Amino acid sequence: MGKGIALDVAALIVLAVLLISCILRKMTASKANRMFLLLILMVALSTVCDIFSVVLDKNQAVGSRALYAAHLGYLATHFLTAPLYLLFFISLFDTWHKLEKNTVIKILIFAPSLVMLLALALNFRTGLIFSVDGGYTRGPWFGLLYVCTLFYVLFDVFYIVWFHKLFSVGDFLAIASVLVFAIGSMVVQMLVPGNLVEMFGGSVSLLILSAFMQRPEEYVDSFTGLMKHSAYARDMKRNYLNGKHVIVIMLNISNFASVQAMLGFDFSMEFLKIVAGEIHDINRKTHGHADLYYLDNGRFRLVFSGGSRKNAERVAEELNHTLKQPMNFRGIDITLAPFLVISQCPEEMTDFKMLMSFGADFHKKNYYTGRVMRAGEMYDRNQLDIQTNIDMIIERALENDSFQVYYQPIYSVARGRFISAEALIRLFDPQHGYISPEELISAAERSGAIHRIGEVVFDKVCQFIAGEDFARLGLDYVEVNLSVAQIMDSDLPDIIISTVNKYQIPPSRINLEITETAAAYTQMVMMENLDKLTKAGFSFSLDDYGTGYSNMKRVIQMPLKLIKLDKSFVDEGNNPKMWIFLENTVRMLRDMKMEIVVEGVETREMLEAFSHMKCDFIQGYYFSEPIPQKNFVEFIAGANK
Ligand code: C2E
Ligand code: MG
Ligand code: MG
Repeated sequence: MGKGIALDVAALIVLAVLLISCILRKMTASKANRMFLLLILMVALSTVCDIFSVVLDKNQAVGSRALYAAHLGYLATHFLTAPLYLLFFISLFDTWHKLEKNTVIKILIFAPSLVMLLALALNFRTGLIFSVDGGYTRGPWFGLLYVCTLFYVLFDVFYIVWFHKLFSVGDFLAIASVLVFAIGSMVVQMLVPGNLVEMFGGSVSLLILSAFMQRPEEYVDSFTGLMKHSAYARDMKRNYLNGKHVIVIMLNISNFASVQAMLGFDFSMEFLKIVAGEIHDINRKTHGHADLYYLDNGRFRLVFSGGSRKNAERVAEELNHTLKQPMNFRGIDITLAPFLVISQCPEEMTDFKMLMSFGADFHKKNYYTGRVMRAGEMYDRNQLDIQTNIDMIIERALENDSFQVYYQPIYSVARGRFISAEALIRLFDPQHGYISPEELISAAERSGAIHRIGEVVFDKVCQFIAGEDFARLGLDYVEVNLSVAQIMDSDLPDIIISTVNKYQIPPSRINLEITETAAAYTQMVMMENLDKLTKAGFSFSLDDYGTGYSNMKRVIQMPLKLIKLDKSFVDEGNNPKMWIFLENTVRMLRDMKMEIVVEGVETREMLEAFSHMKCDFIQGYYFSEPIPQKNFVEFIAGANK
């Protein structure tokens, strides 16, 4: 076997392995994948033609039709891989819609291929490219093929520069090494025509691409077979960067958590596969041509681009209709609550972050109507902007010291005067206005900023208590809220103790509020923190009592001075059973020597009812909303005369 054929055979083996691995890895999901398969087939075909021509050459088939056909086939398939590579890059980075607008560019992409094909087609008459009459010889215009190929290489370079933002370092290295490899082997072959190294070079180039760029396991969800979260993020980021208009159907199964709880993990994954199959079938049967993604927790996405955008509405209706029907799975009838939202991007979801934060939990924040919704009708733009930028808003506020603390007075029924206040954080962002504390605190807990925010609030409260105004008002203490993350932080006691020392105030002036959800945790750190702080002289209250999971055992174990009955009790004021429950709860808590604060009292009737029930303290809009420190001082000075 000649040297050239040995390399060709090696190339065929590499290509066969690549082809099998592509099929096994189910690489047919996207246009780019299919283009890649075409590239493999093209290189394989040209290798086969190459082998044939070498074998025929060796067997002195001079001038035969077979020899001509083998060489023609080889040259055509071989030189057409250059434009195919370019088309592969274009589909991989999904930029066709950008290029197709420009007629000159379109002509530039296709013209050299047409020139090559034409030259090859006419060669049997002209003999300008090659001839086989006296054995294979290159014709005077053979260089034309190289010139056209060089043109594509230059176009590739131009493409990389133009769309460099879309490339990761890995992409860039892969493409660069492919170009170097392809050009290198071409140059070697051009200089030494007998040395058939080009095919082998081509197959190794494809191997590099497949290893570094075409990694479907990174992008395909193994359970559903659909593309996964990372692919969605990559593709949508790219769409925003490219200014490509797409329509996204966001499908969140609202009751997925309960389906999962009912079926258990393994069965719910099996069920999910069926749902994914159903979505896939609907997309196919309705000719939706959408790209399908499964993110997680029962969240699917269908992305329509180009001409398929007009199908979105129809597919959404069909999905909604079909997925609402009860599905029988292992003998159980399961009814899903598929919450579908159609969104035009970038018109309704202006950027990637907005798309992701809206898509994460719209099914929890909006009432499920069973109708297909439009993103535009569902959100308050400012609210979504806040949600999207909350981390930046918090950092800015910390930097500019723009967090404020408001105070809400707390009234003692027995003493007929205000004896304390709850400190509540307030933030007015220069761009977004008022940010609700709930949103602020939960975002800060996620990002970890809660610890710094907690210190800011605590410092401001201590500063207030240490000041002259507070001393004049004759208040006993101020209640400060602690979030779950704070109470689980082993540094908390040191921070609190050092702050009261800094302002030289006695710990008895501070009451720390823990929410009922925090109390449900069993962590040792929390109990140690409570213990240390109680020993240091701080008292604790349990906030929002009755809303969450009241583990009575833990309530008994914790060193609590106060229990704050949640506002929801007050809201149930018309329910006679609530009063029976409350009376007994209040009696029980009093017997345990705990004091009771009722939160959210807004009317005189409620004030009287709760006072009558011997609740110790009342807090609510009836007396005052939370107000800035200065107003609070005036309010108490006036009311406690
Ligand atoms: P919370 O500790 O249960 O605070 C009581 C909430 O009820 C406050 O809401 C208060 O403005 C509101 N409220 C009081 N009286 C009435 C009333 O009569 N009617 C109605 N409708 N509402 C009333 P706010 O200030 O929005 O705070 C919400 C939650 O944010 C707080 O609930 C607390 O859990 C958290 N929070 C506020 N400030 C801080 C803070 O500095 N640190 C931490 N960790 N959490 C805080
Ligand atoms: Mg509170
Ligand atoms: Mg509360």
